[in-house]
Amino acid sequence: MTRIIVVGGGAGGLELATKLGRTLGRKGRANITLVDRKASHLWKPLLHEVATGSLDEGVDALSYRAHAKNHHFDFQLGSLQDIDRERKVIILSELKDEQGELLMPSRELEYDILVLAIGSTSNDFNTPGVRENCIFLDSPEQAHRFRTNMNNEFLKLHAKNGQGTVDIAIVGAGATGVELSAELHNAVKELRTYGFGDLDSSKLNVSLVEAGERILPALPPRISGAAHQELTKLGVNVRTATMVTQADKDGLTTKDGEKIHAQIMVWAAGIKAPDFMKEIGGLESNRINQLVVKDTLQTTRDDNIFVIGDLAQCTQPDGSFVPPRAQAAHQMASRAFSNIVAKLTGRELKAYVYKDNGSLVSLSRFSTVGSLMGNLTKGSMMIEGRIARVVYISLYRMHQMALHGVFKTALIILMGRINRVLRPNLKLH
Ligand SMILES: Cc1cc2nc3c(=O)[nH]c(=O)nc-3n(C[C@H](O)[C@H](O)[C@H](O)COP(=O)(O)OP(=O)(O)OC[C@H]3O[C@@H](n4cnc5c(N)ncnc54)[C@H](O)[C@@H]3O)c2cc1C
Repeated sequence: MTRIIVVGGGAGGLELATKLGRTLGRKGRANITLVDRKASHLWKPLLHEVATGSLDEGVDALSYRAHAKNHHFDFQLGSLQDIDRERKVIILSELKDEQGELLMPSRELEYDILVLAIGSTSNDFNTPGVRENCIFLDSPEQAHRFRTNMNNEFLKLHAKNGQGTVDIAIVGAGATGVELSAELHNAVKELRTYGFGDLDSSKLNVSLVEAGERILPALPPRISGAAHQELTKLGVNVRTATMVTQADKDGLTTKDGEKIHAQIMVWAAGIKAPDFMKEIGGLESNRINQLVVKDTLQTTRDDNIFVIGDLAQCTQPDGSFVPPRAQAAHQMASRAFSNIVAKLTGRELKAYVYKDNGSLVSLSRFSTVGSLMGNLTKGSMMIEGRIARVVYISLYRMHQMALHGVFKTALIILMGRINRVLRPNLKLH
C-alpha cells in the first residue's frame, strides 16, 4: 500500500493529513502517517491570545492521537532531522523527556510520498542579543513564557501599590505585533476586574517598533492608517522607521543609538524556515531556508516530495511569492490533497494559485480592520468593526471545519459560548 507521510501538523499539515485519512486512509488505499514534534495542535494565529491570557489553549488544543484515531491515520510523535531521498526514508531524532531521559531512540520511517509542512520560525536577522533577550511568539511554550513574565511584572507593580509602569517592546509591526499590542491593552482591562484594582492602561507602556515607514507593510496603506490610529487611541507608542540594532536585558537599542527601555521584549520582525531545512536531502532551498517548489507544490528536485505552508517558496504567476499565511497553508493543503490523489491515479497534477481573500487584523475586543478581496468586492474593499471581526473569526472556523466537519465545529462553537459563561475571561495562571 502507498505510504504517505505528512511532517508537521500545523495549519496546513493537519488539514491535509485529516483529508487524506478521511478518504484514502478510510478506504484502505493508502497508509497515512502524521509526524509532529508536539503531542497536540494549536492553530498558530491564536498564539498572541494565549500570550496575553485571553485564550486558554487547554480548551482549543487538539490531541493528535485522538484526532488520528477518528480520521483513519497514524500519528508519530517525533522531530524531523533528515531525509534520505535515495532510500525514501525520513530520520526522526531521538525523543527525550524534560529531564533528558531517553524515551525513544532516533528512528526512520519509509515513505512513497512525503509532504513537508513544518512551518517557520521568527527571523532575528542575526541582530545581537535578540535570541537571548527577546521572546519569539512561535510556539505555545513561548506564549506561556510571555504570559508568565507579564503576570510577574504586573504582580511586582501591584506590590508597589501601582507605582511605575510595565514596559513591553514589540519589534515588527506585521499582523502579529499589531494584534499583540492591542491584545495587551485588553488583558490589562480584564486584570483590573480580577483583583488588580490599581492597574489601568496608563500602567502599561507598549512600544511597537517597526523598521519600515508604516505598520502592516503587507497591507494597503488605508488599512495601516486605520490600524495605526486605533493603536494610538489605545495608548500604544507606535514607532515607525525605527531600526533595532541590539537587544539587552533592559531594552532595545536603535540604529540612531536611542534606548527603548523594556522589561519584556517580543521579536516578531519576519520569518525563516528552520536552519536544518537548508538543502535538506539535497533539495533546493532559498535564502531563508524555505524549500523551493513547482506550482504543483512538488519540490523542484523530487516529485515525490511536496511542501506546503510557510516552509514552501512557491512562485505565483506574477512572479511574487505566496505569503506565509494561514489562508495560504489552508489552500495549499487542499491543492496538495488533490495533486496527491491525481498522482496516485495517474492524472495530471494542477497548479496551485494563491487566492488572496483579504487580510484582517484583530485589534482585540476593540476593533478589527482589514480588506476583503474577491469577485464580490471587485478588488480590495476595506472593512472595519463588527463585520471584519466576524470574517476574521471565520478563518479559524474554516480551519476547524476542515478538521472536524460542520456538525462537530458547531458543537465546538457552542461549547466556546458556554465556556465564556463558566470560565474567567482571562487565563490567570
Ligand atoms: C502570533 C501569530 C499570529 C498569526 N496570525 C495570522 C493571521 O491572523 N492570519 C494568517 O493568515 N496567518 C497568521 N499567522 C501566520 C500563520 O500562523 C502561519 O502562516 C501558518 O500557521 C503556517 O502554517 P504551516 O502549516 O506552514 O505551519 P505551522 O502552523 O507553524 O505548523 C508547523 C507544525 O510543524 C511542527 N514542527 C515543526 N518542526 C518540526 C519538526 N522538526 N519535526 C516535526 N514537526 C515539526 C510544529 O509543531 C507545528 O505543528 C500568524 C502567526 C503567528 C506566529
